[in-house]
Amino acid sequence: MTCRLCKQNRPLMRSHIFPEWLYTPLYDKNHRFFVLSTNENKRRGTRPKGIYERLLCQECEVQMSKWEGYARGVFYGDDPGIKIEYNGGRTVLSGLRYTPFKLFQMSLIWRASIANRQEVHKINLEPHAESFRKMLFEDCPGKSHQYPAILISLPRSQDQIMQEFMYPPQPLTDKIDGHTGYLAAFGGIFWLFIVSNHSAELKDNNLFLSKDGRLPIYKAGKPAVEFMRKLALDFSKAGMLSQPP
Ligand SMILES: [Zn+2]
Repeated sequence: MTCRLCKQNRPLMRSHIFPEWLYTPLYDKNHRFFVLSTNENKRRGTRPKGIYERLLCQECEVQMSKWEGYARGVFYGDDPGIKIEYNGGRTVLSGLRYTPFKLFQMSLIWRASIANRQEVHKINLEPHAESFRKMLFEDCPGKSHQYPAILISLPRSQDQIMQEFMYPPQPLTDKIDGHTGYLAAFGGIFWLFIVSNHSAELKDNNLFLSKDGRLPIYKAGKPAVEFMRKLALDFSKAGMLSQPP
């Protein structure tokens, strides 16, 4: 079988499409995953863990797990080098290591693009797919405005459904300043991925992870919160969030 990252013919691992810890806040109290289907005709189900597929060889899986482990430490606070500043409409994390965090973000959207599972929206990174693959394979994070992600936090609310809602990357119907964007939600954070040839125009805006390790996280405005809430409720009504019996 051909590994999607190194393109070598090697045995493929059964691995998570998205890292397991991104699902962590998404388990119900019995630690079962709220399975999402993007196809209303397909059925709910409860799985013991997230969504798996055989896509990568062991070596490439280990490479990805290094970035994922690093990002997990950033979010779960077990990295003592990370400082947090609250600055009006945004929170800025500093002291991040640029390379693993940037590659982690890129790996989220790339993994979604190679997945075949019906729970994950079909996304097509062309004509950028090969440059994504190469950058990940060569451990090369590129410039900060090259394939960046903008992070937007949802307010902590009584609304458990929003905190527990996972939404795989999906293309936005409208371009943002001419850039193609993909929106995902994991564990109460919106991830807006920009996949564009001309994102250099965005580089002076301090919108995303910088090479000196600063990561802004914006507060979601009311329209974004309403959008997400509606999406979560629609999924729930359509029976696509499986509930404990
Ligand atoms: Zn490989």
